[in-house]
Amino acid sequence: MITHHPDDESLLAFASGQLDSGRGLLLSVHLDACQQCHRRVQALLSVGGEVLERAQPMELSDEALQRVLQRIEGTAPESKARVGVTSAPAARGLSRLDSCEVSAWRRVAPGMRYRSVLVPHAADGKMFVLGIAPGRSLPKHSHRDLEWTQVISGAFDDGRARFEAGDFDATDGLVRHQPVVTAEAECICLAHLSAPLVFEGWIARTFGRWIGM
Ligand SMILES: [Zn+2]
Repeated sequence: MITHHPDDESLLAFASGQLDSGRGLLLSVHLDACQQCHRRVQALLSVGGEVLERAQPMELSDEALQRVLQRIEGTAPESKARVGVTSAPAARGLSRLDSCEVSAWRRVAPGMRYRSVLVPHAADGKMFVLGIAPGRSLPKHSHRDLEWTQVISGAFDDGRARFEAGDFDATDGLVRHQPVVTAEAECICLAHLSAPLVFEGWIARTFGRWIGM
C-alpha cells in the first residue's frame, strides 16, 4: 500500500508543467502507481482550468492556492466524474524511461548497482536507477539540495519511515539519513538529485564522486 506521496506544491507544479523534465518524469512514475495522486492531479487540472477561465489577471497568493486546494477536497467525487477517471492507472514500473538514455547496470559495491538515466531536455539534476540488495544500505548522507526517490520494488527504512513499492520520498538539506533495504528482496528505486549528495566517510565520498551521485 502506498503511504508516502508528493506534496500538493509538487503536484501543482507537475500539473501546471513547471517541473523540470527529470523531476516531472519521476512524478509520472509515481502517478502511474498511485491512483490517489493521479486523481488529485486530474482535479487540480480541472479546477485550475476553471479558475483561469473565470479569473481576472492576478497573482496567485498562498491564500488563493489554499482555496483551490480546499475546493478540490470538497469536490473530489464530482471532479472525478467530470474528468472521467474511472479506473486505476496501470502501474507501469520503469516503462516511462523508454524515452531516456539508460546505461546498463553497473556494480559499484557489494550488493549495490545502478543505472544512470539521461532524461531528454533535463536542464537540472541527475537521475539514477538504484538497486540495493536485501539488508544492505546506501552510505549515510545528507543533501545539498532536493533528493526525490520513487520506490519501484522492494522496500527500505531510513529511520524516519518505511518506504515500499509505489512510495515517494522527498528529502532536502535538513535530512541526514541512511536508507537500509529490508531483508526480503532487492530494493529498486528511481532517484533524482538536484545536487550531489554529501556522503560521510572517504570511501563513500569516493564512491559518490565515482558515479556522479
Ligand atoms: Zn501518491
